[in-house]
Amino acid sequence: MKQHTTCPYCGVGCGVTAELADNRLIAVSGDSQHPANFGRLCIKGMTLPETVSADARLQLPRLHGQAISWDDAMTQLSQAITEALESHGPDSIAFYLSGQLLTEDYYVANKLMKGFLGSAQVDTNSRLCMASTVAGHKRAFGADAVPGCYADIELADLVILAGSNAAWNHPILYQRIQTARQARPAVKVVVIDPRATASCDIADLHLALRPGTDALLFNALLVYLADQGCLDQQYIEQHTQGFDETLQQARQATPNLQQAAQQTDLPLEDLTRFCEWFASTDKTLFLFSQGINQSSSGTDKVNSLINCHLATGRVGKPGSSPLSLTGQPNAMGGREVGGLANQLAAHMDFTPEHIDRVRRFWNAPNMATAPGRKAIDLFHAVERGEIKVLWIMGTNPLVSLPDTERVKRALKRCEWLVVSEPMASTDTLNLADLCLPSTTWGEKNGTVTNSERRISRQQPLLSAPGEARQDWQILCDLAQRLGFGNAFNYQHPADIFIEHAALSGFENQGSRCFDISGLSQLDQHAYDRLQPIQWPVTTTTPYGTQRLFSENRFYTPSGKAHFVPVQFRAPEQTLNDNYPLRLNTGRIRDQWHTMTRTGRSERLFQHRSEPFIDLHPQDASARQISTGDLAQVENQQGRYIGRVRLTTDQRPGEVFIPMHWNHQFSAQGRCNALIQPVTDPVSGQPESKQGAVEVRRF
Ligand code: SF4
Repeated sequence: MKQHTTCPYCGVGCGVTAELADNRLIAVSGDSQHPANFGRLCIKGMTLPETVSADARLQLPRLHGQAISWDDAMTQLSQAITEALESHGPDSIAFYLSGQLLTEDYYVANKLMKGFLGSAQVDTNSRLCMASTVAGHKRAFGADAVPGCYADIELADLVILAGSNAAWNHPILYQRIQTARQARPAVKVVVIDPRATASCDIADLHLALRPGTDALLFNALLVYLADQGCLDQQYIEQHTQGFDETLQQARQATPNLQQAAQQTDLPLEDLTRFCEWFASTDKTLFLFSQGINQSSSGTDKVNSLINCHLATGRVGKPGSSPLSLTGQPNAMGGREVGGLANQLAAHMDFTPEHIDRVRRFWNAPNMATAPGRKAIDLFHAVERGEIKVLWIMGTNPLVSLPDTERVKRALKRCEWLVVSEPMASTDTLNLADLCLPSTTWGEKNGTVTNSERRISRQQPLLSAPGEARQDWQILCDLAQRLGFGNAFNYQHPADIFIEHAALSGFENQGSRCFDISGLSQLDQHAYDRLQPIQWPVTTTTPYGTQRLFSENRFYTPSGKAHFVPVQFRAPEQTLNDNYPLRLNTGRIRDQWHTMTRTGRSERLFQHRSEPFIDLHPQDASARQISTGDLAQVENQQGRYIGRVRLTTDQRPGEVFIPMHWNHQFSAQGRCNALIQPVTDPVSGQPESKQGAVEVRRF
């Protein structure tokens, strides 16, 4: 039997055709009909059958290491929450969610917390991934909305990859760029990244800028566009506001390309060529990802690149847009239902009008009225003992959050640490008081939204092992026990999705961009057969919407897009005599996040088998380190041990280490032990790519 579903890894959101026999996943292939991948899959997608099996799964609830029944587990949890509510108030309870959850799980978690428990202390690991883009979109467009789509790849004449090693992290989109370029050799590709990554293989120009100087580069581009008369004056005047202040701000720091070249450490000739190409190419697609977002000035970086698109009127036009590449399969879906602590469901905010609207829609008795803490602040509150019950769902923050030792102290301090998780052992689960077995890819049933706003179905292919439950079912069980049963009486994920769709259209009348009310009339049968579709989906756009803002109407009070003046700020993790090397972190081609799933496939270790350290030969020589040596990367917070690889792909003075290894595969190979918990002041996203370290032979 064959069934169509969606890959659970990166934000490309590829369609997968699964072949099943006897409740086993026999093989997978790319879904030729899915508009994200048209039949392709990368190696992570291809090895999905090697990662799904009942062994190594958490199959029963556990309390302090002892197996207990679901009834006992949920009784204990509801009592703990009730006691915390009575003794310490709603803000003593927190949820920490994941871009691995499906939209339906996310929706129920947010509804329960923000509408019924009265707390907005619910954040998600998407904070580590896309929060700066969310904030940048809202500042520029008045809505967290991606203007473009993947089809722009085949239409663009200039593709810019900024802070993105798409060849490894969004491989199918990278293949689409490669194919487009083969079909039209005139297409140019620019990679903006301190490292020469695999994505540079097809680059006509690689700008290996000084880490953290992206905003200077984009400000310089804006000044160049103005000075060369390459602005779209009519667009700026009719559809935007704030241009003059923004240009003035850009000019202060980067009055000309000579100065910008020095500041960014780029050859003037290369910088000039980039600006010329951008200025002269109407169909420019700017793909950007974590190299932009994971910064203490990530939101400003996002806005500085969007400023250049607004200045040239290149937003939401065929082949021409800024397009953020999300990290996770459902980072976007989580944003849609209010998965971030500073959002309400359906892209609404904590304004009196939106709070009241959501309250009425849910008939919510205890509506949260102010934003909760963003991820880093949330875990600091746990450390201070302010959070009494913390429920972590489907994520492993003890590996993925910055300053892992501090996270560990926080989790140990928590009175009630609850973790719902498919796997029997993760760094975080092993500290939990209460472990709840949840379903994973292949068992889950619901929807995800990819980087181009496309909603796709993840289908249940296999029976869940033991007593594992869907996350939304666990949440609804808790809601029943807390006395909120009527509002959480869902029988099927379709019930949740339909309610979510209806809320998106509730008192909307075109005032909010996220609107899928056109899907609110689906029945279960139609939901099960839902074809991939891009939001907004309304009665007037029943087949979805490929591009946004093509009519130049934005979701700001004036209806105009906003330029955002950007003043350059250097990384907060400063280099010094003790820690003189700039640390960069990131993904590798064949692993996913903290390896709890991809670590189960031997094939996926063939590419990189152990934690490693990429070091420039000059830095290695100064430290008498050779290729193949074990070395220690260290700073005041922690250390990381890995195998050294000497490479000139790395700029001198800079180090790269991967983010994936967990305690099971390497107790000393956790990169976040070295990252300080400093964040972007607007988005709360951690500065995961600009650490300060020293390297020594081990
Ligand atoms: Fe899965 Fe991303 Fe690979 Fe597609 S590109 S198969 S979504 S990991």
